[in-house]
Formats: sequence, C-alpha cells, structure tokens
Amino acid sequence: MRPACIKCQRFLKPKKNGAGVLECIPGPGSPPAGTAGEGAWRPYKFWMADIWECRGCGLEVAAGSGAMPLSEHHQERFPNDQKVHGVYAKINDW
Ligand SMILES: [Zn+2]
Repeated sequence: MRPACIKCQRFLKPKKNGAGVLECIPGPGSPPAGTAGEGAWRPYKFWMADIWECRGCGLEVAAGSGAMPLSEHHQERFPNDQKVHGVYAKINDW
C-alpha cells in the first residue's frame, strides 16, 4: 500500500525521488526537537529519500531512504554530498 494521509483519507503522491535529507543531532543544552530547536542541532547523517505529499492538506513525508545514509558527519565527503544533491529537508530529531 502507498503511504496515506489519515486525516484527509487520501493516498500520498510521489513528489520527488532522491531528495537530500539532513538528519541532525542535538547540540549542547538538550534543544527541543523539530523547528522549536532550530539552530541548536548539528548535521549528523545525509540521506537520500523519496518525498511524498498529500494533495489534500499539503503534508510532506520523507521515506524510502534505505538502511544506510549517503554519508555521515565524520566522513570527508559529507559536506560535498549536501552541495551536490542539495538539502531538501532537515530533521531535528533522534
Ligand atoms: Zn492530508
């Protein structure tokens, strides 16, 4: 089954394949997750994922990344991967 929006009772539609998603980890001070902690999270893993959208409410979901990130913060290629593929979404959570 395709991902679905329960609120709208609609299937999500594919919006973008191979989108860059930057997963971040909390910096000092245990910042809150999500946009409330913006600026206090540090880049950690860079994933390639598919973006799905609900055409009812505009919900966007990143999924289908596979098991391994494209690169991680300790790797030399980490910054360049983000430049080459672009960062479509940033996630401040763990
Ligand atoms: Zn919806």
